[in-house]
Amino acid sequence: MIRYSLICDNAHEFDSWFANSSAFDEQSERGLIVCPFCDSAHVTKAIMSPRLARTDVVRPALPSLQPSAGDEAPKPAEEKRPVALFDEKHAALRNMVRELHAKIIETTVDVGSRFPEEARRIHESETPQQPIRGQATAEEARALLDEGIGILPVPTLPDERN
Ligand SMILES: [Zn+2]
Repeated sequence: MIRYSLICDNAHEFDSWFANSSAFDEQSERGLIVCPFCDSAHVTKAIMSPRLARTDVVRPALPSLQPSAGDEAPKPAEEKRPVALFDEKHAALRNMVRELHAKIIETTVDVGSRFPEEARRIHESETPQQPIRGQATAEEARALLDEGIGILPVPTLPDERN
């Protein structure tokens, strides 16, 4: 796996993983690489030197967005220790996500699919401030962010992904 820093024609920068260096070119030619911020298909590499994926480095961002352990390349015997460390950190990360998830459920009111509407009402102070959670489509979430309403995705529990 190779990670490229990419940039769209609206100057949005983001990282994406590719199986190999030619995979980027193929997907780019077929217009399959789009900017996650503005859906532009005019995406180019931001820097020329890709960083190779290393399994002993903790990957950032939400665990549900990361590739599963199944796609990791075979490692030489001397790298067994970093793998064990990664597993430990991974377990700790799962617990953190579980705690965060529980905290969110505990401290918010579920408004279901009325979330975009309720979030706007709270943002405009028509109702008293209260933390809420609910469902929104990617489009609705983007619209809320565009309006300056700070929303966050609720992390998915590791157990729920199977
Ligand atoms: Zn963009």
